[in-house]
This record gives sequence, C-alpha cells and structure tokens, in this order.
Amino acid sequence: MEIAEKSGLTADMLKVFETLPNMYLILSPDLMILTASQAYLTAVNKKSTDVQGKFIFDVFYQDNDMPGLTDIQTSLQQVLHTKKAHQLPVTRYDLPDPADKQRLLERYWLSSHTPVLNTDGQISYIIHQTENVTDLIFTEHKAKAVLRPPSNEMTLSEQRFAFLLNAMPQQVWTARPDGTLDYVNEFSCTYFGKDINYITDHGWQAFVHPQDIDACLKTWQTALETGKEYMVEFRLQMHTGAYKWHLGRAVPLIENGQTTLWLGTNINIDLQKNNEQKKDEFLSIASHELKTPLTSIKAFNQLMQRTSDPEKLNSFIHKSAERIFRLEKLINDLLDVTRINAGKMIYNLEEFNFSQMLRDSIESVQYTSPSHQISLECENEVLYTGDRFRIEQVVNNFLTNAIKYSPGADKILVKSSIQLQNIILSVQDFGIGIPEQELDRLFERYYRADNSAMRFEGLGLGLFISSEILKGHQGSFWIESEPDQGSTFYFRLPLPSPENVGPEANENHFYKDNTISITYNPDKQRLEVDWLGFQNLETVQHGCQLLADRLQKTKVHKILNDNNHVLGTWSEASEWVGKSGFPMLEKSGLQYFAWVFSPIAFSQLSARKSVDIAEGNVITQLFTDLPSARKWLDSK
Ligand code: ADP
Repeated sequence: MEIAEKSGLTADMLKVFETLPNMYLILSPDLMILTASQAYLTAVNKKSTDVQGKFIFDVFYQDNDMPGLTDIQTSLQQVLHTKKAHQLPVTRYDLPDPADKQRLLERYWLSSHTPVLNTDGQISYIIHQTENVTDLIFTEHKAKAVLRPPSNEMTLSEQRFAFLLNAMPQQVWTARPDGTLDYVNEFSCTYFGKDINYITDHGWQAFVHPQDIDACLKTWQTALETGKEYMVEFRLQMHTGAYKWHLGRAVPLIENGQTTLWLGTNINIDLQKNNEQKKDEFLSIASHELKTPLTSIKAFNQLMQRTSDPEKLNSFIHKSAERIFRLEKLINDLLDVTRINAGKMIYNLEEFNFSQMLRDSIESVQYTSPSHQISLECENEVLYTGDRFRIEQVVNNFLTNAIKYSPGADKILVKSSIQLQNIILSVQDFGIGIPEQELDRLFERYYRADNSAMRFEGLGLGLFISSEILKGHQGSFWIESEPDQGSTFYFRLPLPSPENVGPEANENHFYKDNTISITYNPDKQRLEVDWLGFQNLETVQHGCQLLADRLQKTKVHKILNDNNHVLGTWSEASEWVGKSGFPMLEKSGLQYFAWVFSPIAFSQLSARKSVDIAEGNVITQLFTDLPSARKWLDSK
C-alpha cells in the first residue's frame, strides 16, 4: 500500500482497478505489482496476496525459457524509456491446469503497457492490460495448419488434413467463428480463377449472384448465431463468368462448448437444378398436351348425347376416336421414356420383311393425313431381324413429323436402299426445316427446336425414343436440313456382314479395309487417310489405332484426313476422338492434321465437336475441299 501511495494512487483508485471486469496489473516504475484486478487474478488462478508488492518477474515469467518473456521485458523497458504506451504482439504465456497443477495449458494474450505520468512528467505507475485471445489463436492455427503446404513442422494428422482438403474434387472452405472466410482449397481457386488471398479477402459475397445474396447472408447469420448447420442454395460465378447453382453447407467445429471453426463445402448442383426446371416445364407441357384431346373428347361425347342424326353421330365418333388415338400415343410415349430411363426397353427380335413394314406404316399414316402425298421408292425387298413394332414406331415418328412440320407442303418422299450392308431409310419433307445449330440437340429428351416449339403440338419425345430404338438395334440416324426448305431424316440399320473380306495391305504402308484406306506419301512426308462408308465408335477407334501405328513406322508428322466418303453420322465417337484419339496420335508423332469435311452436316458436327474438345497440341485445320487441305499441309 505504501508503494501504491508513493505512486500517487489513492485507495479509491486502487479499488476501481481491482473491480474492473478487464484484466489489469498496476505496476510501479520499478516493476513491482501494486495491484491486480479480480479478473486478472481469476484468469491466472492467483490470490491478491500472491502478487501484491512483488516484482512482476518473480510472480510471472519466472522461467527464463518461458515463451513471451523477452517480449514483456522489452515492452516494459521501452515504456520506461519512452514514457509512451506500447502494445505487444500476441504473447504466449501458459497457465497451470487447475485440474492438474503439473500440466501447463497453452494460453495466448494480447497486452499493452500504458504509463501514467505525474505533474513532473515522471512515470507514476504503469497499467498492464491484457486480454485472453487463446480461442482466436487456436482457430487461426487450425486454418493455418490447413493453409500451409505440408511441411516437416506439421504433425502427420495436420499434413493429412491439408492434403485431404486440397485433394477434394469440390469446393471446401473454412471460416472463423465470426463468419469470416479464412481458407479455401485449391479446387476452389481453380474453379473461380482467383488465388486464395483474393477469395478470403473478398469472401463468397464477391461470387454470389446478386439475386441470391440476401437470402444467403441471412442464412449464414442465423447459422453463426445459433451454431447450427448452414445450408443454402445459391448461384456462384465461376471463372468463365457463368453462374452455376451450388449447394453451400457448413458445420461448426465445437471445442470446449465453443465454436472454433466452420467447415464448409459448395457443391455444384447446376445440372440437377436445370433438370428440375426442365422437368417442371415438361410437366406443364405434358398436362396441356393431355388435356387438349381430352377436352375435345368430352365435347364430342356431349354432342353425341344430344344428336339423333346417324350421319352426325358417325362423324363425332370418328373425331372422338382420333383424339383417343392421340391420347393413347402420348401416354405410350411417356411410358416409353420411363422404360428407357429405367433401362427396361425390351426388344422382341424376329425376322420380318422390312419393305412390307414400310408399306404398312406409310399406308396407315397416309390414311390419317390426306393433306400430303407420301411416295415410296424402295430399291430392294429386304428381310431384317429386329423388333418390327419398334422399328415401325421410328418410321411412323419420321413420317408424322414430316407431315406436322411441313404444313405448307403436300408431299413426302420416302426412300429405302441398301448401302454397304446397311439398310438406309430417308424421309424427306419440304417444310419449315431446322437451323443447323439445333440439329444435334433434337435427339435429346424434351428438346424442341425454337421455330416449332410454340407453333406445333408435341412433347419432344418422339426423336429421343427413336434414337434409343435405333441404338438398341446398333443403328444410327442423322438429318440433313435447310430452314424453310425442308428436312431429310435418315436412319441406318446394319445387316449381318457377309463373310469377312480380309483387309489389303503392303510393305509400303498401304492399308485398306471397308471403313478406312491409309496411304503413305513419301514425297510429301505424310499419311493420307480416306474414311469409307458408315463409321461407329469401333471403326473410328480401329482406324486411329492403325494411323498411330503407321505414324510411328513412317516417322511422319502430318495427316491428310479425308471424310468425303463418310456416310451417315459417327457422333457417338466424336468425344473419344477429341479426348483420346488426338492424344494417342500426338504420342505417335502427329503434329499437323488437315481435316476435309464430309458433305453430310451431321458428320461435320461430329468433326467440329472432336476438334473443339481436342486435348493436346496437334495443330488441326478443317477444310471443305481437298486441294486447300493439301496446300496447307505442304506449307507446314
Ligand atoms: P415433337 O414433334 O413431339 O416435338 P419429336 O421428338 O418428334 O417431338 O421432335 C423433336 C423436335 O424436332 C420437334 O419439336 C421439332 O422442333 C423438330 N423436328 C422433328 N421433325 C422435324 C421435321 N420434319 N421438320 C422440322 N423440325 C422437325
């Protein structure tokens, strides 16, 4: 007390310091403890008699190796010297565990020293104020453990944790208890095209769609306040600029009853969201489509009840039957799609007369569509083994579409032929046609071209079902179309191959079979490839393998790739060509690839797709004629 009085501190002032809820030590200029606030004594588990009148370093920091000792000493010396307040960096000072005095608990403190001067400008006493920031530091440590690249200093479990988060193929993040984002994994950085500092500095807000931000922040705030799981659906802007739907989730890590960290993930759910939206749209169209014939049937039934005129009655029955037929078709289509989705489409294979089936189908469609004259050009009578009912369904779909989408025309041309052991059927109309950019999407479920969606009835299921039926028969189909001129829909069904004619080959690296011919041109130092007839994944893979082989043997780096003789479509192989075919050829030495288009639009689409998604460094150029392709390769 005496020393306290010397320092100009009255008993009242000492009382104030002792009762303040913060942690204070009041020190004399020779660093004796004048008093300590109750909060301080409680935190360090000491009584006032343990500390009062004692030299600070005799009570605290006795151990010379104690972390933080030098910081405290330096800070106090600085204050004594400059007579100015000084804030210390966070200092570690461990305290004995009340439950086990032998054990020290890791504790962190944020402290400051403020000198109080007397009228002579000399230090009367120093206020040592401190705050326990252990929780905050622990949280930071955790985040840093994750952020640090695995190092020898990290424990094995920390290294594993860091490795795990970075290896996760989805966005993983952590936030502090106050909600500040403090870590995102490498996947997130790539996804958003920003580094970790940018993302943690700006927070998720910088990426959330403006329309979703309010709901998102509100949910986050509630989670922070209640400590309950956070879950939200929002759109995030990825590095391409496009917004994608995500499901954001986070759970708090609770230690000693307190949230020390939030661990979160954002999962891309864009596909599911879009599908949901498509499904909703589809349901609304489907109900409309089902309701329209039903309303007519009801109306005709009422008319039938009211009339006794047999002629009128007949006409109403006929009209009503037409609508019932339409309703039945819609329901069957819906059932087919369900079967396809469940992988339960079953084909009853039997041999039948394909040409006869064609005539039957045309006859029934012609009967209900007198507006158009359907003519058939059938080159051969052919027997085919497949599901007659399902193949007829495809033909009917082509024919009814041809009629539906050519309201201003009056004829439909059907041609059937056999080419290279395949039945090729084409149905040509002179109607509205289809824009090129929509050609390859029509086989998707529910897809309807823009120019017809509003004007014509339909569910966009027929072509999808047809393509599945054809695939189920190892066939394919493609379209040639010109807007406002009309469309030709083709399909191909393979017939069993006759005895295999072996491929021709010679020592000059010439090779030919019925799908590909490869010639080595030693003068121009290139391979010249001619793809022949109908291609599928198997023939394309086989051809590329042959090319890789010959590239290695001839050691050339250029290919002249001619698609002029390709028939039909090979869209099922286009992805493989881009992702595996090109890398395989590059490995075998390919550098320049001149690609001459097939005249068929569908085949061109496949080529474009392969080039667009091609992986590796092969330089590829597309051409519509051979001479330009040759010239380009000559210049390389
Ligand atoms: P729907 O006719 O019920 O819409 P489809 O699956 O049979 O369903 O056809 C899908 C889409 O393909 C149609 O909505 C239309 O946009 C387009 N389409 C089909 N056939 C033709 C055709 N002959 N001419 C123009 N567009 C067609």
